Amino acid sequence: MESLELQIKDIRSEHIGEQVKIKGRALNIGTQYPVYTRAAYQCLRCGHISYVEQDGFKLEEPYTGCEEETCGKKGPFKLILKESTIIDVQNIIILEEITAPARECILKSIKSFLMRSTVGLALEGETYYFTGKLSTIDAGKGKLEYVLYIDKVENVLKEAPVPSSEPTSMSIRNRIRTMKDCIKKVSDNSGINKASLDEVYKMVEEEGIDRKTAEELIKKMKQKGDLIATDQLHIRSTH
Ligand SMILES: [Zn+2]
Repeated sequence: MESLELQIKDIRSEHIGEQVKIKGRALNIGTQYPVYTRAAYQCLRCGHISYVEQDGFKLEEPYTGCEEETCGKKGPFKLILKESTIIDVQNIIILEEITAPARECILKSIKSFLMRSTVGLALEGETYYFTGKLSTIDAGKGKLEYVLYIDKVENVLKEAPVPSSEPTSMSIRNRIRTMKDCIKKVSDNSGINKASLDEVYKMVEEEGIDRKTAEELIKKMKQKGDLIATDQLHIRSTH
């Protein structure tokens, strides 16, 4: 069946009864529980078994009474577990993915039920495509709310991470080479065979290495033994 991909904010009454697909995070996943979809009621007067399709979470008895033609009594009935059809259900909240800037975004969620074989397929906090029938349940005080009876859970393929380095940025190896060159120049110009850190920072900044990165690189080079600090303000190359 063709399912309509919808965002929770776009759900409308015209979608009730339709198969919809919603992308969202799985939250508040509950413990699974059994639900009757077809309940077998045995008439205690004649023994006949009437089957009643159940579409909600409240058990409905045969409302026209015993289906046995000559009986037709309104009960009492006994629910026969073995003759009934029971499925597993798990409560879950689907939380809409946030794509808009936070201040423009109102969190949207929909109460949902993982039905039958989809029980256990969703992990808390993970994002999935949930497909199922959009319906409503009584939210009390005469209000209804939308619910999704999920019959399909699909993993969302993780998008390949966007390379974080800009094409113009230097590789670490290039940065270290630049650092070494600058330290040598500053050191050679000093006449005292050591480089002022301030001058090194200034020089490498012109080469595109910011102060914080330069500090980290110097720290690494010291750890490797390529540099020593002669005092708090100067460094010397060990090569
Ligand atoms: Zn009967």
